[in-house]
Amino acid sequence: MSGALTGRCLCGAVRFSLAAPPLAARACWCRTCQYLSSGNASVGAIFRRTDLTLTGETAEFTSAADSGTPVRRRFCPRCGTPLFAEAPNAPDLLLVRAGALDDPELARPESTIWTGSAPAWGLIDPGLPRCEGQPS
Ligand SMILES: [Zn+2]
Ligand SMILES: [Zn+2]
Repeated sequence: MSGALTGRCLCGAVRFSLAAPPLAARACWCRTCQYLSSGNASVGAIFRRTDLTLTGETAEFTSAADSGTPVRRRFCPRCGTPLFAEAPNAPDLLLVRAGALDDPELARPESTIWTGSAPAWGLIDPGLPRCEGQPS
């Protein structure tokens, strides 16, 4: 794992770096993630929140996840790139959207969740553990 631990939004107004590699990564097919990723699963890498250094302003939108948890989602107010998600039941953790990482190889998913919400045409890696809904 030698890639740079940096990332940015599409327009470059928001840039960030992370002090340590991700703890985990997963693909999520929940309905909310389908909104964020144009109909596909979203891939998120989980970091410690204290490892984030951020420059630029983010906008945010909080809504209930399919699990019922209120999730705070942060994005670039200029170009709309989804960047981060945070939830009160995991206050030490920060989910970073894989597409915003300069090296998306860092975010190879280890599992797929919310597969029960995926459309019939959804491509789900058969080699990964999967969960129909929210993993416990
Ligand atoms: Zn932007
Ligand atoms: Zn999701």
